[in-house]
Amino acid sequence: MTTLDPSLRSFIDVAPDSHFSIHNLPYGVFKTSANSPARIGVAVGDEVLDLAVLADAGLLDGGPLGDGSVFRGPTLNALMALGRPAWTAARSALVKLLRDDEPTLRDNAALRDTAFHKQTTVEMVLPAAIGDYTDFYSSREHATNIGIMLRGKDNALQPNWLHIPVGYHGRASSVVVSGTGVRRPNGQSKPAGADQPVFGPSRLMDFELEMGFFVGPGNRLGETIPIAEAPEHIFGMVLVNDWSARDIQAWEYVPLGPFLSKNFATSISPWVVTMDALEPFRCAGPAQTDPEVFSYLESPDDRAYDIHLEVLLQSERMTAPEPIATSNLRYMYWNVCQQLAHHTINGCNARPGDLCGSGTISGPGKHERGSMMELSWRGAEPIRLSTGEERTFLADGDTVVMTGCCERDGVKVGFGEVRGTLLPAIAR
Ligand code: CA
Repeated sequence: MTTLDPSLRSFIDVAPDSHFSIHNLPYGVFKTSANSPARIGVAVGDEVLDLAVLADAGLLDGGPLGDGSVFRGPTLNALMALGRPAWTAARSALVKLLRDDEPTLRDNAALRDTAFHKQTTVEMVLPAAIGDYTDFYSSREHATNIGIMLRGKDNALQPNWLHIPVGYHGRASSVVVSGTGVRRPNGQSKPAGADQPVFGPSRLMDFELEMGFFVGPGNRLGETIPIAEAPEHIFGMVLVNDWSARDIQAWEYVPLGPFLSKNFATSISPWVVTMDALEPFRCAGPAQTDPEVFSYLESPDDRAYDIHLEVLLQSERMTAPEPIATSNLRYMYWNVCQQLAHHTINGCNARPGDLCGSGTISGPGKHERGSMMELSWRGAEPIRLSTGEERTFLADGDTVVMTGCCERDGVKVGFGEVRGTLLPAIAR
């Protein structure tokens, strides 16, 4: 585990509660106006640092970074494809340029003027062209909660669950960046006690508190990514809200799994926090001794990450979102290396920019439940909001905000937020 140097400071002001300290430097893609081209930047404090400007100034090239052209594109895919030596070189160069004792950028007023934008003045777009999106189901607490509700306490976990990092192929086309409105889907469902299915707007709209990782260099079709090499293939992580229509899901999922209940929208946070930045926050995950896992899934036991997560909800009557749940990525039973090793063990090829979701991240506590389905226990225990409103599932106009942050020795490395408002269904 790498050590943190809490004395490291940037010449850019970073508020104590900012997620974007010099220890973080997450990558994102932004536009300075609706019609301007997408550009790659890193967040520091309230600023976005334009990396194409730095590359053009000859400050981000050489060695594994080549001519710096990976910073001049409209997505992070080319940087993701370069691999860890390039990621580490870029991080070192950026930390050096932003340090308070380094004059190159600090004392060049003209360069600073073109290189920095206030985050409030730019529009964030998707950080990568996402070729494929896979969603796992890796929280034992979540799988157990859902299992108890559907099958009872004695059969809560399916027999495969402790052996296989269970997952399914999602839909990349509907992955949207934070701030994008999400429309309540229409679909088929079969209400409890009804003889026949009905068609109309989903009545059981839910969020799923997840995180996701972006694949860096991929593997050739027919080859695998061994678990020991998985860290070289994982670029960084984002917050994920994997919106779900529970009533549509319950009716459609037999026998092939979720389809239209899951593929209408997946929201992600715009800033990709690199695994290098998360390294000081690695920690032990749940023990995997009963049963032992297959050797292709054997992982060092410190491949979890201590990332505090929070879900907030704002109804149309509220002026600010209020917390309704917390959780932590460290609860996840299957870690990101196990997920990628499992995904490719059959020769399936992963590609740079592919997104893998963790599955809903729930914890042992009652408030550590990562979905409305669990928080309201399938509608039996409504959540009471400060306005006096109650929720079992989401109402039109509700805004869901998820945040995530690591903290150690006063140093914060955070993800900002992923936010989305539920819009009414289109009348059919
Ligand atoms: Ca999910």
